[in-house]
Amino acid sequence: MRPEMPPEMARQGESIDVITRSEAETAAVGARLAQGLRPGDVIHLLGDLGAGKTVFVRGLVSGLGLDPDDVSSPTFTLIQEYRGPVTLFHVDLYRLAGAEVSDLELDALTADGIVAIEWADRLPTPDARAIIVRIDDAGDDERRVRVDPPDAPR
Ligand code: ADP
Ligand code: MG
Repeated sequence: MRPEMPPEMARQGESIDVITRSEAETAAVGARLAQGLRPGDVIHLLGDLGAGKTVFVRGLVSGLGLDPDDVSSPTFTLIQEYRGPVTLFHVDLYRLAGAEVSDLELDALTADGIVAIEWADRLPTPDARAIIVRIDDAGDDERRVRVDPPDAPR
């Protein structure tokens, strides 16, 4: 962790690349990213099952000042909403087939708030406007957490 890094760096085009050593540290990276987010932003979360994508979203939710207590993978609801001064839509594509994903009309959500999508690599087309969060197992409780700004301006 590099606490001296200004929270808005990810949205200014800088990347984050850190090793976290606990669930709380991964959530803290999410909370820091949240500081620079605004409605219309899209976050794509990539990484294996158990990598920490949902943990990261819990950090996003708390960083946005929303209640993180009930953040879990939206297994049955597909899309969970956390409403407050800003709204976060939390989407998990794990159980969807490609055709179902394209029916979701995720674009419509971005008009309304911030959208965080687990298993975003299952989307039929890449979104150059998305912030990419990639989490990889680095052994035991260690995770490599990378945040990259969008390829295209939003
Ligand atoms: P995903 O949504 O990617 O499938 P989850 O966020 O649901 O994964 O679960 C991550 C699991 O890994 C949790 O049980 C969490 O406690 C554990 N864990 C251990 N170390 C870390 C870490 N450094 N960062 C995030 N999660 C961690
Ligand atoms: Mg998950």
